Amino acid sequence: MSESSDCLFCKIIAGEIPSTKVYEDDTTYAFKDINPKAKVHVLIVPKKHYANVAELAAADPEELAHIVAIAQHIADEEFHGAYRLVFNTGLDAGQTVFHVHAHVLTGEKLDE
Ligand code: ADP
Repeated sequence: MSESSDCLFCKIIAGEIPSTKVYEDDTTYAFKDINPKAKVHVLIVPKKHYANVAELAAADPEELAHIVAIAQHIADEEFHGAYRLVFNTGLDAGQTVFHVHAHVLTGEKLDE
């Protein structure tokens, strides 16, 4: 599915809901998390709608690798290449938005 009409992140990608863009290309969009858990907290999403990282990995592993490369680039710019990359997957793991997104936490030394 390329878009889901009731999906928050599809609306952000389409520009229907405002966001602070960090990066964009043909397949991928990155924006600041509205409730940051680190000095720099960016969400990276594929423009195509997949519910979670397992669906993305199965359908388009190149896009998943691309998301990792973008996370690395952000961390290279923000904090000498150090970062935490999180994909919450499933309600009981804390996933609240069912459009796959990588949380990139960086910009400062992170708690262990
Ligand atoms: P959790 O809310 O437990 O972190 P997710 O892993 O599904 O669950 O992450 C959703 C993320 O989306 C949250 O970090 C939340 O702060 C962020 N978020 C929700 N709405 C917006 C928005 N309009 N703009 C930017 N980030 C948002």
